Amino acid sequence: MIKAITLDLDDTLWEVRPTLIAAERTLRSWLTSHCPNVAPLIASNGLMDIRKKLILNEPELMHRVSEMRVRVIEQALLECDYSSSWARQAAESAFEVFLEARHQVSFYPLVIEVLEELSRTYRLAALSNGNANVYRLGLGKYFSFGLNAETVGVGKPHPAMFEQALERLELSADQVVHVGDNPDDDVVGAQQLGIHTVWVNPDQLDWPSDTQKPSAEIECMEQLPDCITMINRNR
Ligand SMILES: [Mg+2]
Repeated sequence: MIKAITLDLDDTLWEVRPTLIAAERTLRSWLTSHCPNVAPLIASNGLMDIRKKLILNEPELMHRVSEMRVRVIEQALLECDYSSSWARQAAESAFEVFLEARHQVSFYPLVIEVLEELSRTYRLAALSNGNANVYRLGLGKYFSFGLNAETVGVGKPHPAMFEQALERLELSADQVVHVGDNPDDDVVGAQQLGIHTVWVNPDQLDWPSDTQKPSAEIECMEQLPDCITMINRNR
């Protein structure tokens, strides 16, 4: 029997792009008003250049999106002649402002209802490469736990996050379904361990032909409960 469902967050439970654009705007306006020296660097897209340089020197930061953002802001402030202690402190405050805005998501229709329904039968866990937190989103009561690339040390599709989830759930791969929008990170990632997969495909894209198909495909979360029942029946 299927006992647990692991869920990706960004672009699975909500559309992430508008959230990130708004959060980025909030961050930049906070920085401009609290650290005015940095305004020209922000206006000239200097944050992006700093980010590129940091990733070049420390590629592992790609998996640590929160730390990377703090470091980018800190570096920007240093380049604008703020002291190192002030830069660090302001970067952390700025990041908190970003993170608060990053949690102002608009859930896809019926997400809450579906999570509530599924959580009555299955254990749910969040597996994300980003820095959204189900507890901060008020979804904690539906989830047993959440893992992200920062706490695991590496993101999906690396097997580590899926392995850690199975360990925490104390279940075998065949008892778990992973649900997510990304063919590689979510579907291929989970398939490597033999976990059942549901591809969330709201735009009805074609499945990339060179990879093994997911166990099932849905266009919206409303279809998930029936889809899990079907996987359970066919396994
Ligand atoms: Mg996603």
